[in-house]
Amino acid sequence: MSAGSFLRCRHKGKDMIDIIGRVQKLYLLDQNIIAHIRTEIDPLTGALSLRGFCEIAPELLQHLRRDEGAAVVYINIEDFKSYNARNGFEQGTEVLCRTADIIAAVFDDRLVSHVYGDRFIALVYESEVLDGIRELESRFMEHFPDAKLCLKFGICRVDSGKNVTFACDASKIACDSIRNKHGILFREYDLELEESVKKQRYIIANIDRAIAAGRIKVYYQPVIRTLTNEICGMEALARWDDDRYGLIRPDVLVSTLERYQQIHKLDACMIRQVCEEFEIRQKAGDRVVPVSFNLSRLDFELCDILQIIEDAVSRHHVPKNMVHIEITESVFDKNPEFIREQLHAFHKAGFEVWMDDFGSGFSSLNVLKEYDFDVIKIDMLFLRHFTTKARRILASIVDMAKKVGIRTLAEGVENADQLAFLRTIGCEKAQGFLIGKPEPLLVTRNNLEEKHYRFERLCLRQYYDDLGKVNFLSNQPLEYAAVSGRNLDVNQITDLDQGIPIAVWEMRGDIGRFLLTNRAYRDVLLSVGVQSPRAAEFDMNDREEQIYWSARQFFREMQEDGDIHAQYAVLGGHHCFIRGRVIARHHGRSAYLLVMQDLSGTFDIEQYKDQAEITNSLFRMFDYVFLLAERPDQDVLLYSVRELPTFSDMDDEGILHEVRKSLMVHPKDQDRYDDFFDRPAIHRALRDGDRAEMKGCFRFWDSSGSWCWKEISLSLSRVGDKKMLAGMRLQMLDMQSDISIGSFHPVSLKELQYLSQMKQTRDTNGHCL
Ligand code: C2E
Ligand code: CA
Ligand code: CA
Repeated sequence: MSAGSFLRCRHKGKDMIDIIGRVQKLYLLDQNIIAHIRTEIDPLTGALSLRGFCEIAPELLQHLRRDEGAAVVYINIEDFKSYNARNGFEQGTEVLCRTADIIAAVFDDRLVSHVYGDRFIALVYESEVLDGIRELESRFMEHFPDAKLCLKFGICRVDSGKNVTFACDASKIACDSIRNKHGILFREYDLELEESVKKQRYIIANIDRAIAAGRIKVYYQPVIRTLTNEICGMEALARWDDDRYGLIRPDVLVSTLERYQQIHKLDACMIRQVCEEFEIRQKAGDRVVPVSFNLSRLDFELCDILQIIEDAVSRHHVPKNMVHIEITESVFDKNPEFIREQLHAFHKAGFEVWMDDFGSGFSSLNVLKEYDFDVIKIDMLFLRHFTTKARRILASIVDMAKKVGIRTLAEGVENADQLAFLRTIGCEKAQGFLIGKPEPLLVTRNNLEEKHYRFERLCLRQYYDDLGKVNFLSNQPLEYAAVSGRNLDVNQITDLDQGIPIAVWEMRGDIGRFLLTNRAYRDVLLSVGVQSPRAAEFDMNDREEQIYWSARQFFREMQEDGDIHAQYAVLGGHHCFIRGRVIARHHGRSAYLLVMQDLSGTFDIEQYKDQAEITNSLFRMFDYVFLLAERPDQDVLLYSVRELPTFSDMDDEGILHEVRKSLMVHPKDQDRYDDFFDRPAIHRALRDGDRAEMKGCFRFWDSSGSWCWKEISLSLSRVGDKKMLAGMRLQMLDMQSDISIGSFHPVSLKELQYLSQMKQTRDTNGHCL
């Protein structure tokens, strides 16, 4: 190229003609070409079109001196699409025009073309490439300091003998190879890239043969249900097992096939194989789980992908709920209305549609809003950088998904901490190397067996899906669980570390277990003296334990109407408030969501007094509940099963005394009874701790017209400053079954034996003691 070997085809109108005129002079271009070039100007930027570029560049190269080298520089504005989405089309256009100006200014008098969208190409001297690129980059950043945009460059040397079209392709390949690679400004088309181009050509030339020869293999990566640790699905991932290249992975395979519009061949082949293998496994009597596979945007355009899937499932007798499709948001890049119809057709046909790589693109939320998905697969990026912030984002995604009724799966789980975290925030499913890498079906099955994973039973799928709807991050998980539909709750996410104490308890027949407890729940258990959920399970399944009976009574009530039920209990001396509801059922199995709060420490009685629900539950356990102040005249009666004298009549000894007076005690028990209610004694009981429990057995005159033994239990706990919450319960002691249900305070067996002996004596004597 001589000094005049230029073509700045970027000014509109008259300039353009001038420039072409100069070129004509210099190279004596054919008149036809000149006329043609006039039509090859991009009206937006005033630059040449790619076609124009490819026509003129060879002409220019012919004039290149021997000692001069030339290169094609491919320029891409990275993240331009997001910029457009953020700032609108007009501002996007402005960026394009400005960029064209900058390129023209830096590569002054060189041939510059606007390829399309955010892509430009220039033909320059080899010696000016590097300085030019750096200058361009710095001017661009100066112009758009806050645009969150950057430039990427691909370079390919050309000489007069070299095909310009090839150089354009090659520089584009070089440029695309550093896409999203932070900190890399340019890449030259080199041997390595040349190899990769060869590989791509090989792929395109041989895909049909590979499919026919069975060289496309389905690798299966397992998916686990976080709640149960059981395998609940697999993802089918493609591999090409090739003689020449070995295993060709999908990163090269898929992108190449997409670029050359051949991807539907691979995907159809995958679907057929998945169905075929499914049928074989099912016939062999193996436990099967649903399989999801990946579709590309082009599948919807290049073939009738739904029909292909329908044919495959029906030929191999695969139930439609056993195959799910995964699509990424890029599917919606073009022709979103058409894709919407397609997705609708998939749903109508009975297939689940999952959104892949959620959160990796810039419009995930938008896509989620606009289209119906059954599951979102959260991109593995969030787990790769497992920071506090990433955890919060993950939690918010799960919370948000539950609010709109979409299930969640997290990809890229590589360690147990990540899995535990996902379980806690209620992310239903997980996939990643921790559970298993993608392998051929038999290898995957063997690996899972070795790690003692079990496969989820299909009949339980709905049950667990129902369980998965619970939003563990909601302030009102129970209320939320009530409605399995969509879009109802606008709660803030609670701080994960101080979340509401939540557990999911499952009853299978008469055996119960925790499916899940969050940290707050385990803290409450600890505070009431239960070391672990396992220890609690042990007690709750032990018929000798009082809690066995009371809990079952509670579960029965929840079962009856499906509503939220509440129970007040004293556990380890703490006043606990347990609320729950049934959230899923399946043949002899029920799952309950429980929220348990230890009221003792923080109980603000004034706040709770007016809340009907809590008061009802608080007093379910007790006949009387008092808040005892330091001075008896400041006592408050919170609840009483029977009329008591109005408080204005109350004597100086306080409410306890009133209650004591209102109960008729057998003369022989009077002294003991008075001692029991001795106020200093009650205070002494609380001297050494925040909680205490006092019990005594006395004879009372019963409404049945006789003296009956009753046990008084007084549960005490310190609340606030110098106040004491006292729950008092009176319990008949002459019928074993009465004692065992509805109370957390068993009478000792010895006492029972003694009392039943007494009862017999009374019965035979025909009168009371
Ligand atoms: P994807 O659908 O997001 O698949 C997950 C990819 O992440 C898989 O890579 C998998 O091997 C990898 N992966 C899974 N767990 C982990 C983990 O814990 N850590 C890390 N670092 N990576 C993990 P693979 O198999 O190479 O697939 C790459 C992509 O190619 C897939 O991404 C999918 O978009 C596409 N693809 C795969 N098979 C097909 C297919 O049959 N058809 C179409 N259209 N696309 C496919
Ligand atoms: Ca996928
Ligand atoms: Ca993915």
